Amino acid sequence: YVAKEKRLPCALYSHQQNRYSLLRLSLMSELCGAIERGELVLHYQPKLDLKLQRITGVECLVRWQHPVHGLIFPDDFIPLAEQTGNIRYLTLWAIRTALAQCARWRQQGMELMMAVNISSVDLQDPALIGNVADALAASGLTADSLWLEVTESAVMHDIDKAVELLGGLRQRGVRLAIDDYGTGYSSMAQLKRLPVQEMKIDKSFVMDLTHNEDDAIIVRSTIELGHNMGLSLVAEGVESEEIIQLLSRYGCDIAQGYWIARPMAAEAFEHWWRQRMSERPDKAERA
Ligand code: C2E
Ligand code: MG
Ligand code: MG
Ligand code: MG
Repeated sequence: YVAKEKRLPCALYSHQQNRYSLLRLSLMSELCGAIERGELVLHYQPKLDLKLQRITGVECLVRWQHPVHGLIFPDDFIPLAEQTGNIRYLTLWAIRTALAQCARWRQQGMELMMAVNISSVDLQDPALIGNVADALAASGLTADSLWLEVTESAVMHDIDKAVELLGGLRQRGVRLAIDDYGTGYSSMAQLKRLPVQEMKIDKSFVMDLTHNEDDAIIVRSTIELGHNMGLSLVAEGVESEEIIQLLSRYGCDIAQGYWIARPMAAEAFEHWWRQRMSERPDKAERA
């Protein structure tokens, strides 16, 4: 396969990894062109600062608007993109698109930080640092507007490489979060090597928080651990008001979840934001 100038270079399916269904195989090859055809979209989910009681940022989550199969969620195509190496183009596209959106929102007075997920494959790519710097420059935003989220298991995949690459990003002023914390078997020794500022507790511990004593213990002690390491703590998968109350009592900094809002297309998010601001103008002003 020879990459033509205007096409995304893309790796072909390897017969050594023939563990995919035919649908997955066809998706895998189609993903190469999906970015170019504009079939990928970002949805945005707000992050609520529990102390300030205000929305301080959003996380972008990619969806694939497939012409035949409809809306496809990332768990069904990110692993394929990682297999083929196309994840790099997806990541760059997501960073550029999210930063451009963030810049437009700032112009409208929506002071938000933007969080983008990166994959374990991206952590192997030293070019990421320069690419992120270029994307920031193109958007006109400062590096501290951008959060990059990397899962605990992705980091543990090759901790030395991860520490090096994350260190380079951190040096440039980008903020870093460890995602899905609690599912990746990291040790304290490994954790403290990571130059991250935020720890996101996996939703599997949060969703049943008010009914499961074990989850409550895990969440409470993770918040304490994170705070002792100087990190900001985010709980994902917040699906009820009771969970928010409990997280606030535990001293959790930020909450994210369906109870606050589902991930939404940009326009829907703007609408949601304006609605929220009109309901709580006092809180917007104090910000
Ligand atoms: P994540 O980064 O941990 O994102 C949180 C996931 O939980 C999202 O699923 C979100 O829609 C979902 N979620 C949020 N609040 C709730 C809730 O209250 N309850 C429940 N049950 N779920 C909630 P989504 O959008 O399907 O994304 C799944 C994963 O795919 C993400 O997990 C992230 O690891 C990955 N992903 C998404 N977008 C990208 C991307 O642009 N690049 C990369 N590399 N990975 C991405
Ligand atoms: Mg995330
Ligand atoms: Mg997560
Ligand atoms: Mg996840």
